[in-house]
Amino acid sequence: MDKDPSGDDSAAGLSVEAEGPLAPPAEPPEPLPSYDRLLQGDRQRIFFLPSEAPGRPREQRSWSSVLEHRIPVVTEEVARQALLSFVNSKCCYGSTAAGSLVIRELRQQTLCRYRLETFSESRISEWTFQPFTNHTVDGPQRGASPSLWDIKVQVPPMFQEDTRKFQVPHSSSVKECHKCHGHGRYKCSGCHGAGVVRCPSCSGAKRKAKQSRRCQLCAGSGRRRCSTCSGRGNKTCATCKGEKKLLHFIQLVIMWRNSLFEFVSEHQPDCPGELLAKARGENLFTDENSTVYPIVDFPLRDISLASQRGIAEHSASLASRTRILRQRQTIELIPLTEVHYWYQGKSSVYYIYGTDHQVYVVDYPERYCCGCTII
Ligand SMILES: [Zn+2]
Ligand SMILES: [Zn+2]
Ligand SMILES: [Zn+2]
Repeated sequence: MDKDPSGDDSAAGLSVEAEGPLAPPAEPPEPLPSYDRLLQGDRQRIFFLPSEAPGRPREQRSWSSVLEHRIPVVTEEVARQALLSFVNSKCCYGSTAAGSLVIRELRQQTLCRYRLETFSESRISEWTFQPFTNHTVDGPQRGASPSLWDIKVQVPPMFQEDTRKFQVPHSSSVKECHKCHGHGRYKCSGCHGAGVVRCPSCSGAKRKAKQSRRCQLCAGSGRRRCSTCSGRGNKTCATCKGEKKLLHFIQLVIMWRNSLFEFVSEHQPDCPGELLAKARGENLFTDENSTVYPIVDFPLRDISLASQRGIAEHSASLASRTRILRQRQTIELIPLTEVHYWYQGKSSVYYIYGTDHQVYVVDYPERYCCGCTII
């Protein structure tokens, strides 16, 4: 008698998929009092946290001990070996030149690289829904939802980026699926609910043109089973996965991000800065804390200024919209050697950079392309 119409497989009363709204109603289910402010106007908003006041006293650092650090000298032998292994790693570079060029001068300098990493957390809230499958609903009757920053979550390891989603406690409610109007299914758009379509071979004429025999594909019926719905006339609603109801709730999206500020002290302009930024260096100094303080007294003024600039930039861009969890600043030594050489009456230069002796060469004299020398 009181048969649930949605349990019926017949397509009667179902709407075609395309007619259903694409999104849930613009107005989410009764806004929860504690989130009114947060969700006002827009469906998604970043929640701001007041920046934390710095409170750690500056400690006195002694640079004389760290600067005694020496980087091994690059000898002629090392310089040639570095070039040979570079050349051997490239298919179109010949090794004869690297083996026989005359090294005239090695100009070695040590650069300083400053890096600041800031690991921060930002929180966003948004309304979302999922098929309603379990029967426990954590709604507002269980209490007020905590504010976004009061929700305790497990923080990933420091400096490892991640994004995770959480259901805000006491924010759930159950509504009829807006896509299928609570039927769990909708009418198949391929056959408009009939389960059958016109036979593609005889176009419904039951026999082919100029042939007396009946159509073999449809056995003379003029119809074929609809392949979109396998003849059922309807399809399971993809929005509620056939569950008829949706659980609406506020989702908390937490993003942990690492921001990087990088500076390399003044160097030979012919060696690209982006190579030096990624070069392997020798660590001189590491300072890690919940917030770090600008280095003010490093003997190389550029590095002290970079530290002050980096910290100011990160605090300006991050502190107002995220929570800074951890900062790490490092100073590394990057060796850079300018190698001046002679080869077949021409003088030129290549560079060896990083503690692993990477090579940068602009006009290597023995390069081939498709078998032809392009000196
Ligand atoms: Zn169909
Ligand atoms: Zn047919
Ligand atoms: Zn549905």
